Amino acid sequence: MSASPATTTASRLFPLFADLRGRRVLVVGAGSVAARKIRALLDTGASIIVVALHAGNEVTTLARDGRIELVVAAFAEYRLDDAWLVVAATNDAATNARIAAAAEARRVFANVVDDSALSNVQLPAVVQRGRLQVAISSAGAAPMLARHLRARIETVLDDSLGDLLELFERHREAIRARWSDLAQRRRWFERVLAGVVPRLVRAKQHIAADIAVQDALANEAAEYLGSVVLVGAGPGDPGLLTLRALRALNEADVILHDQLVSAEVLALARRDAQFIDVGKQAGRHRVDQDGIHALMIEHVQRGARVVRLKGGDPFVFGRGGEELQALRAAGIVYEVVPGITAANACAAYAGVPLTHRDHAQSVRLVTAHCEQSADRLDWAGLAQDRQTLAFYMGVAGLERIRDRLIAHGRAAGTPFALVENGSRPEQRVITGTLADLPELAREHAVRSPALLILGEVAALAGELHWFGAAPLSGRCRDLPTPSLPLDRAA
Ligand code: SAH
Repeated sequence: MSASPATTTASRLFPLFADLRGRRVLVVGAGSVAARKIRALLDTGASIIVVALHAGNEVTTLARDGRIELVVAAFAEYRLDDAWLVVAATNDAATNARIAAAAEARRVFANVVDDSALSNVQLPAVVQRGRLQVAISSAGAAPMLARHLRARIETVLDDSLGDLLELFERHREAIRARWSDLAQRRRWFERVLAGVVPRLVRAKQHIAADIAVQDALANEAAEYLGSVVLVGAGPGDPGLLTLRALRALNEADVILHDQLVSAEVLALARRDAQFIDVGKQAGRHRVDQDGIHALMIEHVQRGARVVRLKGGDPFVFGRGGEELQALRAAGIVYEVVPGITAANACAAYAGVPLTHRDHAQSVRLVTAHCEQSADRLDWAGLAQDRQTLAFYMGVAGLERIRDRLIAHGRAAGTPFALVENGSRPEQRVITGTLADLPELAREHAVRSPALLILGEVAALAGELHWFGAAPLSGRCRDLPTPSLPLDRAA
């Protein structure tokens, strides 16, 4: 008996999703390979029978739990009589070939593990989101390629797609009744998918999503309203974006970004999106906060999917809260995608653990960028030891930070690491002790963006650094080999 010619010539396979509920599937073999195939079959509701001479642990457990039927016996052809599908997963090539031939004779589809020539069905690589499935086949020719693609598709598809499918199923009758014409229905779907509905589903606002679908059915204009995703772009290294951030950038019609957002991150966004740099001087004036709110609202009202992209995390010294308040007041749907904040990123990329059992039990994210904000801080609290301080926007105020901390009792010898352009190719790390902080920053001409990490943990940068150049330490009395002259103190 010969195998199906379809798999031995270069013709293409027919993709097919099979309803196996209550239907008999025979698996021959019960080792780890068989177990992998059985796992893929389990939630289809198939009635699975496994025939094998020896059963491995996983298959034995499944049988004990009543999820499959296990027969410890040699394969016999009659086992195929009531089967719709057979998976041959024994480690004996002759047995596998015999199973394939017997299946062919009975017109039962057969998959022979690792043998595409003997198989007349292939099990695809699958990306699953609830009942939504994307199956990838290489026709058995290059399964590794299919797996590679699956990994890439996994990153693109949001977890909420399964819920979106359930939503559309709930409204299926109403949608068909409203649009009997296929082209019209398709246009409606495109519009709904570009609107707030997927965003509401992602936000787990299922009732609001149902209402939005009903609105879109009743009133054609309803779906033209856009929405906003407030996205944290991280510190600069595009590898530090979240999958959610990347998906939002891929869907965006309009991207309003700050100056802090790196070019490498922007390069990942949809090419035909409109980019608006609200951190730059627009004309003669920099766009102020109210101007940003107005811009977002204006684009949303035109139906755009707006991404408001901010450096680091939008809720850490990012004015994200104010922007959401403006959106809420305007009745606009929004989502928030957190980003890796500068303190996390700079610490990681400088080799400075923010907490350490021996040195620091807490971390504070602080800003003291002007006299007024400095006055509002609890310096006595900040001066306590065994805690790490991460100062944002500090370059201009380092003298003030040093003086106040020392005045309130923090040791002058407390180590610091000043991280400029953290996670970016041009990253620099300056280390030293609190007493010399402003002078060292000046000597090394540190510029914004830079983050100050202060606390005992900062001394670990010398030992644990791994990214870019080693930390520059000058004038530091505690370090053995200062690389810069020590005599420039005021
Ligand atoms: N929302 C941002 C912070 C905005 S305030 C976040 O979560 O990171 C801007 C300050 O953040 C800068 O002055 C600097 O102190 C810090 N910062 C942001 N990105 C940085 C980077 N790549 N390296 C060092 N500091 C950075």
